[in-house]
Amino acid sequence: MIIDCHGHYTTSPQSHQDWRTRQIAALRDGASAPPRPQISDDQIRDSIESGQLRIQRERGTDLTIFSPRAASMAHHEADAAANEVWSAACNDLIHRVCGLYPRNFIGVCQLPQAPGADPADCIPELRRCVEELGFVGCNLNPDPSGGHWSGPPMTDRSWYPLYEALVELDVPAMVHVSSSCNPNFHATGAHYINGDTSVFMQLLEGNLFADFPTLKLIIPHGGGAVPYHWGRYRGLAQDMKQPLLTEHLLNNVFFDTCVYHQPGAELLAKVIPVKNILFASETIGAVRGIDPETGFHFDDTRRYIDGIPWLDQHQRAQIFEGNARAVYGRLSSQLERQSALQTA
Ligand SMILES: [Zn+2]
Repeated sequence: MIIDCHGHYTTSPQSHQDWRTRQIAALRDGASAPPRPQISDDQIRDSIESGQLRIQRERGTDLTIFSPRAASMAHHEADAAANEVWSAACNDLIHRVCGLYPRNFIGVCQLPQAPGADPADCIPELRRCVEELGFVGCNLNPDPSGGHWSGPPMTDRSWYPLYEALVELDVPAMVHVSSSCNPNFHATGAHYINGDTSVFMQLLEGNLFADFPTLKLIIPHGGGAVPYHWGRYRGLAQDMKQPLLTEHLLNNVFFDTCVYHQPGAELLAKVIPVKNILFASETIGAVRGIDPETGFHFDDTRRYIDGIPWLDQHQRAQIFEGNARAVYGRLSSQLERQSALQTA
């Protein structure tokens, strides 16, 4: 089985995104938000079958761990109350996709974060998504200010109640920024990679996993600049008298394979232990085109993993399936539940 741990609903019906635009405008005008739009099952089917489901079939992958569009979380564009309504709308839509295609999609939620808001305020929506909707993880924005980085690092104690809830529910968080408010930092080209790299360094400097030995965090986009600069990070850890990174971070931190060329995927697999690598493509939307050097889509990441010559069958199976099942503690049982739903 091939599990893609990083897919977003970038093709959601236009009325969904339009509602968010109107919600933000209403907030600015001091007006009340408009009612949420009616979205039919057929609209959802159209948006999925021509998009993510077609790609699964074309590329021979089986299951996508599916979350709302990351750039649209835009926690910095509204306040906590508005973001709560928006997160619920986004998560409900993911739940409907998983209900319509229970063998192909399993949910991960967006959280109602906001600049300056207490991360603990996200716990009720996290619980609702995991306990009521069957979601297996969340996307956690390390910078709800959208590029100002005005909040504390992820090792700060203000995040701890949320981590306690993640541990209790046995769900991991994918550390994932949203859109950028600063034109110096392109969202997917700079802000995302900055976020991944910055959070890894925060974790290196801190001692978060001494307090949360079973907390699991996934750093997407191949870990940002981390694998490429692994020597720098090992050296910094040594200078700071921190433990070896394998002990300090690699029981808790995992990287996905959203690296869009063969040499990058090979570097990732050479530097980072196989047990810490989860297959992912981040389809659809981070990079949309076809690589003229290969003739295949840049985000067709399965080819890169298949193409790493030194991986044996067992290691490839770990990256494609085993590691996801280990990191997402509720995945296997939820998948059984969803498959039974379809059979029934
Ligand atoms: Zn993403």
